[in-house]
Amino acid sequence: MANDTCAISIERLTKVYGTKKKSFLALDAVDMTINKGEFVCIVGTSGCGKSTLLNIIGGFEPYTSGKILINGKNVNLPGADRGVVFQTYTLFPWLTVEKNIQYGLKIKGMSKEQMSAISDDYLKKIHMEGFAKMLPKELSGGMKQRVAIARTLANQPEVLLMDEPFGALDAQTKSKMQVLIREIWQNEKPTIIFITHDIEEAVYLSSKIYVMSANPGRIRKVIKTSLPEVRDLAIKDTGKFIELKNYVRDMLYSNEVIS
Ligand code: ADP
Ligand code: MG
Repeated sequence: MANDTCAISIERLTKVYGTKKKSFLALDAVDMTINKGEFVCIVGTSGCGKSTLLNIIGGFEPYTSGKILINGKNVNLPGADRGVVFQTYTLFPWLTVEKNIQYGLKIKGMSKEQMSAISDDYLKKIHMEGFAKMLPKELSGGMKQRVAIARTLANQPEVLLMDEPFGALDAQTKSKMQVLIREIWQNEKPTIIFITHDIEEAVYLSSKIYVMSANPGRIRKVIKTSLPEVRDLAIKDTGKFIELKNYVRDMLYSNEVIS
């Protein structure tokens, strides 16, 4: 049941794609309880239903049966309480970095001064102070994704939904982005649901990992990531980290039925 500390509660969630003649069970009886301020990663092989699940939470995709509550309320449509960052770059190409970050604020009818204060603050948080007047085409992939994250956070969503946001980045940029998102999470404590197929990324970022299995998409295991709250990249070389990584991998690739 949802309570004060519970941001998202999902019970027996099922999703069937297709028609009555030809249907596909994409999600089967998914249960999740995500507390406010938790950093949750969902790992699973390609096609296991990760994006379907995130899109349902985001309100972009209808579900077939079950129950899903965000802060105790039913989810049917997208809402300002949930912000989404996708893998592909979704910035408005004709708007500057600053105007991209201010986009949602403008819709809310904020004054120019308020909008500038907020976008300046987020530019600082993503370490891109000098880039306000640039256009997306002048930025690297990592920078574009940083601006996309800032644009989403500027709207102060209660829940941040991220679908393989660093999947298209090179290894070094990806590591830097992981540090940045941990930093933002530590300072602001938003509830984050972050999808990845990268086990190391999931262990580094999360406080809890949901491991999914495919055909049909199910939650196979929930793993608490019991690592120190302050994490630098060197933590990836520690015994505890490697142990956790191996455990998640075993859960992901094991064919056994795990209850
Ligand atoms: P993941 O994000 O884990 O790679 P998806 O959620 O995108 O997986 O897809 C899960 C399964 O549902 C896949 O088998 C995919 O082919 C199927 N699927 C996704 N979207 C649709 C759709 N709109 N219509 C029919 N099947 C779909
Ligand atoms: Mg996907």
